[in-house]
Amino acid sequence: LLGTIGYTCYQIWDDRHPQEQFQPDPSKKTLVVLGTGWGSVGLLKNLDTENYNVIVISPRNYFLFTPLLPSCTTGLIEHRSIMEPVRTILRHKKAAVKYYEAEASSVDPDRKVIKIVDNRDGTPKGAETEIPYDMLVIGVGAENATFGIPGVRENSCFLKEIGDAQLIRKKIMDCVERASFKGQTQEEIDRLMHMVVVGGGPTGVEFAGELRDFFEEDIKKLIPEISHRFKVTLIEALPNVLPSFSKQLIEYTENTMREENIDIKLKTMVKRVTEETVQAEVSRPDGSKEVLTIPYGLLVWATGNAVRPVVRDLLGKIPAQKNSRRGLAVNEYLVVQGTSDIWAVGDCAVAGYAPTAQVASQEGTFLARLFNNMAKTEAHEGRITELSGTLNLQQGNAAEVAQEIESLEKQLRRIKDVKPFKYSHQGSLAYIGSDKAVADVPWFNGNFASGGSLTFLFWRSAYLSMCFSTRNRVLVIVDWLKSKAFGRDVSR
Ligand code: NAD
Repeated sequence: LLGTIGYTCYQIWDDRHPQEQFQPDPSKKTLVVLGTGWGSVGLLKNLDTENYNVIVISPRNYFLFTPLLPSCTTGLIEHRSIMEPVRTILRHKKAAVKYYEAEASSVDPDRKVIKIVDNRDGTPKGAETEIPYDMLVIGVGAENATFGIPGVRENSCFLKEIGDAQLIRKKIMDCVERASFKGQTQEEIDRLMHMVVVGGGPTGVEFAGELRDFFEEDIKKLIPEISHRFKVTLIEALPNVLPSFSKQLIEYTENTMREENIDIKLKTMVKRVTEETVQAEVSRPDGSKEVLTIPYGLLVWATGNAVRPVVRDLLGKIPAQKNSRRGLAVNEYLVVQGTSDIWAVGDCAVAGYAPTAQVASQEGTFLARLFNNMAKTEAHEGRITELSGTLNLQQGNAAEVAQEIESLEKQLRRIKDVKPFKYSHQGSLAYIGSDKAVADVPWFNGNFASGGSLTFLFWRSAYLSMCFSTRNRVLVIVDWLKSKAFGRDVSR
């Protein structure tokens, strides 16, 4: 007990202690990291910041634990529980790191500079500056794909950032309150209470499941007069949902969701969106096509990723990237092809893996190891050159120096032996509603597929263990308990 109290006191003291000032050291290289998502934070967590002048640039001054974002849309989890401030993350590094809250608007690989824009609310437009780099890591993620479908940007909600989840939470309650307003027509109530989700990937499926729980567990009790009019439709262009999961789990998910009264429309491609309707084309088994017009109250668009403008701009500046469409093509050491001092991690990099948090995090960790090794290599080589120079001058302890050189050379061979990046898949998990989840986990050289309530407990404990900090973990547990005991908070 005394130990725990002592440790906690030390942590509090350590956290309150004035932070060391960032002083660039001219003898060190400047390493600039763009982004504060899974890839960049995976790198920062494991990087020895004493080896470089490290600068982090991101418009988002926190790390977001994205796997639990769908739970924020209904208030099951409060958004701050899954956010970790960048300043807190960087505070614990050995050497100080500079952070700029800004968006990188372009990278000039010839001049080795990044143009950054301070685009916070209230900042005069055009507050721009340049940051020079020796080494650059791009971990800016991706934006929402809309495939240029008319009306999507103007009328849909997305589910990528905290702001998106907050907007959805507000809009759900807007629909519910408006539907229960005096004198509302039956047709309007049905439209408002119809929640449409486009995209049957993990994001769409998890969100549809969370929505169903919210209505079953809370809205039904609070506003029973309209809750039977509530309907969720999940639209997917492919013949099944969750294409990356095993056949058995796809079937389980689709059956469970149908039992939960979620209307799954497969082989249905959304072609147009208006303020109140979705127009979709259904492919029938006989090959014919039918156009459906579906009225909605809330529309959530979850059809995957598209390249961000800063990455698209850079693709055009590197001749070796001219055929890359989905992001920055990288080699097995995550170096952006056609460059020698730019690396890319996460959803903006094309390394041959799916754009998931797991891949991004492992790429970030790999780069940290690579950079730590590069710094050690340079230090060892410098020391060997220095010792070799003195070897001829030394008379007495020449044998000792020769031995040290030999030992350093041995260490150097080991340090230099960094194997290329290889992704190790730990499994895929998805929540599907009514306290059930699906898990595709590679175990004992085989694939273990499971779905149901036990898997739901596994899903919860796995996500809990993956949370960034103990603080996040405690807050998420408290949110879960709070919602179970008192219901979700439905205030706007
Ligand atoms: P996704 O790319 O996995 O799925 C998008 C789906 O939208 C596709 O199945 C596509 O066929 C469908 N679609 C595209 N256009 C459409 C249209 N016009 N009409 C109807 N359907 C259309 O997208 P996501 O779910 O956002 O996931 C993005 C990435 O993040 C994926 O790699 C995913 O595996 C990963 N992810 C994983 C988890 C998890 O493991 N729990 C959770 C979230 C995201």
